[in-house]
Amino acid sequence: MRPLANGRTMASVTLDLSRAPEAQALKAASPAAPVNLAGLTRAELQAALVASGLTPPEKARMRANQLWRWIHHFGVTDFAAMTDIAKDLRAGLMAQFVVARPEVVERQISKDGSRKWLIRMAPGIEVESVYIPGVGRAGALCVSSQVGCTLNCTFCHTGTQPLVRNLTAAEIVAQVQIARDDLAEWPSPREERRLSNIVFMGMGEPLYNLDNVAAAMDIISDGEGIAISRRRITVSTSGVVPELTRLGDTTQAMIAISLHATNDALRDILVPLNRKYPIEQLLNGVRAYPGLSNARRVTFEYVMLKGVNDTPAEARELLRLIKGIPAKINLIPFNPWPGSPYECSDWKTIEIFASILNRGGYASPIRTPRGRDILAACGQLKSESEKIRASARRAVESASSV
Ligand code: SAH
Ligand code: SF4
Repeated sequence: MRPLANGRTMASVTLDLSRAPEAQALKAASPAAPVNLAGLTRAELQAALVASGLTPPEKARMRANQLWRWIHHFGVTDFAAMTDIAKDLRAGLMAQFVVARPEVVERQISKDGSRKWLIRMAPGIEVESVYIPGVGRAGALCVSSQVGCTLNCTFCHTGTQPLVRNLTAAEIVAQVQIARDDLAEWPSPREERRLSNIVFMGMGEPLYNLDNVAAAMDIISDGEGIAISRRRITVSTSGVVPELTRLGDTTQAMIAISLHATNDALRDILVPLNRKYPIEQLLNGVRAYPGLSNARRVTFEYVMLKGVNDTPAEARELLRLIKGIPAKINLIPFNPWPGSPYECSDWKTIEIFASILNRGGYASPIRTPRGRDILAACGQLKSESEKIRASARRAVESASSV
């Protein structure tokens, strides 16, 4: 642990599950839950059917395709609804597997149409996902990849929470399924979808959980199911350089890079992972990202922090750094959280910054703050609503004790 400028400490940048004794204890205490078929890839689904003894190997492919359609095209959550499967086989499936959703603990709808779900994956394992209309082709779902994060970026609230654990592929897919339940998007509509894009910009660092993120993307992008094309799925990373190529090769996802600073001294503080993979290495990694082209640009995310990283000179330096990279730049007004050591830059300052980038030839939209009334902003996920629920509980407790 190293002290940072703001008095907080920097945690190890590797996935440190030793920080999650409660979760491990919980895992050890709970009996093995039945496998949820709704979170398996096609290959895993076939294997599970054969291993269960319910399907002979020569029929596994056909049976898996049948189940796949029910689960991922029609969105059913009950074997009873799978009417073209014989009753005794359905009973066998029911005895060994589930296709249910995890519990939605809280659901909120913002005045601007954003929606937020707090989902309980397992006891003590809660994550949030947020749907934002008008982003991407029709609307984007911001999903979480971990519970908490090990990376301690100084402006991010998630970074102040201890990591509990990586989410499984099933738990990542469940966030999409729950959003589609709520948006009434089953069976998968061909046209006029409300949920058209996925962004891995919720809690956690997706490149520290790449295997599960990649498996989830296999499921979400499958053409006979949810069918969200891989080029409409964006993975945001704080800069885990060694995993970038594997991400591109295995998923063909679009990438967003949380840059936030134009020199290493400042980025070391804002995004402590920079000490391991400094800006030059990061940008070389981005230049080498498989499939990058003018039609498939990287997004650089840049959070606007008052008096910290928002001068015109820094905008010009940003242009110099990313020269030659097919890119767009997303300026994110900082979302403050209680006790956060920063403020958001003034609107005028953000506009000047954006206009320099525009003149330099880059699209640089300022991300409009959405869902503020339901605390649906980046870096505020879960922790805030947890606090509110805790304070609501305390209020009820103190009211009932009077
Ligand atoms: N760990 C990944 C993805 C999750 S964070 C990453 O860091 O890229 C998603 C985005 O939200 C990142 O660009 C992150 O820098 C930004 N972010 C986090 N906290 C924020 C805050 N308080 N205000 C504005 N943006 C924030
Ligand atoms: Fe983790 Fe991303 Fe937050 Fe940094 S910004 S602490 S990497 S979730």
